[in-house]
Amino acid sequence: MNENDLQDAAGRLAFVRTSIARAAGLAGRDPEAVTLIAVSKTHDATAIVPLIAAGQRVFGENRVQEAEAKWPALRDATPDIRLHLVGQLQSNKAVEAVELFDAIHSIDRSSLVGALAKARDKTGRRPECFIQVNIGGEDQKGGCEIAALPRLLAEARIAELPIAGLMCVPPVEVEPAPYFALLAKFARDHGVGGLSMGMSSDYETAIMLGATHVRVGTALFGAR
Ligand SMILES: *Cc1c(COP(=O)(O)O)cnc(C)c1O
Repeated sequence: MNENDLQDAAGRLAFVRTSIARAAGLAGRDPEAVTLIAVSKTHDATAIVPLIAAGQRVFGENRVQEAEAKWPALRDATPDIRLHLVGQLQSNKAVEAVELFDAIHSIDRSSLVGALAKARDKTGRRPECFIQVNIGGEDQKGGCEIAALPRLLAEARIAELPIAGLMCVPPVEVEPAPYFALLAKFARDHGVGGLSMGMSSDYETAIMLGATHVRVGTALFGAR
């Protein structure tokens, strides 16, 4: 790792952390209550190692296979790293996912609740679970329909998955704040504590509206 890469990574991380603290401060919230997930999808170890060296410990990936290829070696070197799966998960990858990840943000259907409960029983691993909501009602988007959320949450609770919160990715190119506010309302209505919302372009807004987990890629790693 060269000195410039470390300085760049440390600079970007400091900038994002300062922005998080500012947004939390405006909302009267403790910045420590916001987990910064550095989304490292498509980036290889050369880009990730400087961010680890700068102190970042929580990372996100969107594909199980890509994460399996990259992370075991990086984790051997830094055992306190925590990995979050932020992308869609196929039921047939549930065992691999619970073995590798400490949190899964993309639970959006009954069959996946079942597969994750089985994978938990088989492996003894209990990653934190977020239910993803298709908050803009978009056809191609991941996440359960808003109307299906109460039932899916109930199923996840019956299966004794550790429910950490709700997650959403709002529609692109429109103001995200109403969608964040709506997800926060659903979390309150259903007694769910965590809110995984906000990416590079809107994490400050998300924090002002209650985000407990922000998923930031581009602002930490540069363009993909
Ligand atoms: C890629 C990705 C992110 C990070 O996006 P940036 O705009 O690069 O910060 C966050 N959440 C999910 C689900 C993603 O797939």
